Amino acid sequence: MNSKKVYKLKRGPKIALVVVVLLVLIVPFFVDKYKEYLYKKTNEYAFLRQGYTEEQVSSIMDNLSDDEESKLLTYEYNEFIPEFVKTKYFMFKNLDGYLGQVITKEDDFFKYHGTDGYDYEGIVGLVNTHADRDYYTDTYKTDLSKEYGLLVNKFYELDSEYEPDDLVDISIKYYYGGAKKIRSEVYEAFKEMWAAANAEGIYLIIISAYRDYDSQVSVYKDYEDRKGKAYADRIAARPGFSEHQAGLSLDIYSKDNTNSQTFKNSKAYAWLSENAHKFGFILRYPEGKSKITGADFEPWHYRYLGTSLATKVYNERITYDEYYAYYMEDE
Ligand SMILES: [Zn+2]
Repeated sequence: MNSKKVYKLKRGPKIALVVVVLLVLIVPFFVDKYKEYLYKKTNEYAFLRQGYTEEQVSSIMDNLSDDEESKLLTYEYNEFIPEFVKTKYFMFKNLDGYLGQVITKEDDFFKYHGTDGYDYEGIVGLVNTHADRDYYTDTYKTDLSKEYGLLVNKFYELDSEYEPDDLVDISIKYYYGGAKKIRSEVYEAFKEMWAAANAEGIYLIIISAYRDYDSQVSVYKDYEDRKGKAYADRIAARPGFSEHQAGLSLDIYSKDNTNSQTFKNSKAYAWLSENAHKFGFILRYPEGKSKITGADFEPWHYRYLGTSLATKVYNERITYDEYYAYYMEDE
């Protein structure tokens, strides 16, 4: 019969078949081994080995750059790290500061925030803005190259001789009390805002505008003489640390309400909250952010940033201190 011969292979092809079968069985085994070898060199594997769960590892890997992942691998396992890395304003350079807040300042932190669990966003904001330090310590010079975006707060200071060179007189139509000055672009923006508010029956007035270094010295000294340094620090900025010296801030009330206690309930405040950013102003010291801004809630204090920057800050719903720390400080 011919059919038997058909299945009978010669020795050469037989060996070839055996080799093919062996390769088919063995190659995947080595491919797997090689893949495993490669996987063990990944950061993902290293983080899992450190004790992070898969969920924590993806939080880390989704939010950090390769370089940051490598740096993080020099840290020991820490259950708080995956929580911090997923907050919006996480900055790797501040990681040690965030962890320091959790571990050593827990009680202080809860005192300020009154939350049940850790407020990761709050800690990130605090550390990014340097407000985890005592106010007025390790201060920086205000970076004037930021122009209308410059920062003045408890950690950023203007020189005593700093005075804007484009100050203009504010018309008596807009202010209450003594004559006042402000930078010209701020004045133009305010006048537009004033007209828009006025069209809706709101009569804005300026109570305070540009203040030079010397007048801030006397404001602060007056409080200090009467009630001591701690009180003065709560109520007024130390000379050089007042945004009013930048000529970019206005204290704004309305003609029918100039009361610092009740202005927050006024129609004018509600209007400013909705509209000020459209004219380049932001509420500089919002409610509940005192630890970061270093100032109590001041519904009357508006800071000029220009419409583009003011709108960005408004849309992010964070303080200018936080915005500056995240987007501008290292630029
Ligand atoms: Zn003010």
